[in-house]
Amino acid sequence: MANDRKRWRVEPGRLDLERVDPASTAGAPGDKATTMAQLPALSERLADLQGRLWAEGQRSLLVVLQALDAAGKDGTVKHVFSGLNPMGVHAVAFQQPGDEELAHDFLWRVHREAPRRGQVGIFNRSHYEDVLVVRVRDLVPPKVWRSRYRTIRHFEQGLVSEGTTVVKIFLHISREEQARRFRQRLADPAKRWKFSAADLEVRTKWDDYMAAYHDAISKTAEPDAPWYVVPADRKWYRNWAVSRILIETLEELDPQYPPEAPGLDQLVIE
Ligand code: AMP
Ligand code: MG
Repeated sequence: MANDRKRWRVEPGRLDLERVDPASTAGAPGDKATTMAQLPALSERLADLQGRLWAEGQRSLLVVLQALDAAGKDGTVKHVFSGLNPMGVHAVAFQQPGDEELAHDFLWRVHREAPRRGQVGIFNRSHYEDVLVVRVRDLVPPKVWRSRYRTIRHFEQGLVSEGTTVVKIFLHISREEQARRFRQRLADPAKRWKFSAADLEVRTKWDDYMAAYHDAISKTAEPDAPWYVVPADRKWYRNWAVSRILIETLEELDPQYPPEAPGLDQLVIE
């Protein structure tokens, strides 16, 4: 079985974001055209595995997508997951918390969106925002966000023990590529709505965000709730890499169709 995902997997205690080149295409099956030509087959394979997970109805997969603005979270959801059966998918985008959410612990709104058995859950942003943007923008005291790494590890461990496979993916783009995409966004009426002036604040605090990501990833990269750092300057490579990670994860789970009811082969449909 191919093991491409190892390349992006963060080994606990060993993460150096600065050494990951966001423009890397390492391990790709070929150039852009060759790699893109493989995506439809990967999409089909993913759909088949998801169909089995859904039919089995016992376990679930949670995919956490984290990244800075314009790194491609939305694009990844759209391109990588579009072949799946929507019945078995639960996709959520976590926005700035409202009053009711803020009145609870930070996991309250997250846990209720966890996928049910058989489902693939997609978190576009997640509980990690509570140690990322919340830390950089000083929204709670350091003592509070520092305690959250442990809370997150325990929370994810709980999901895993109850049958959810947890996969966390950081889409890593460069500052230059983000600038290019922001400019494109502003120029394109179909993308302009995604731009908010607040996004520019992220650029002025780039190093703070990188430090926050470094800590978040390295403090929560657990053997059974792994992080993958995917170079994301090139969308075709990003889509290929995320597809490979998900396929290999599901292949390892090896979901099975439920056993058929006895006597089915005797039935005659008239
Ligand atoms: P977008 O993903 O572009 O729709 O933007 C969502 C915004 O909500 C981003 O600016 C996030 O940083 C922000 N956000 C998400 N979760 C939280 C959180 N827990 N606390 C503060 N801001 C958050
Ligand atoms: Mg945004």
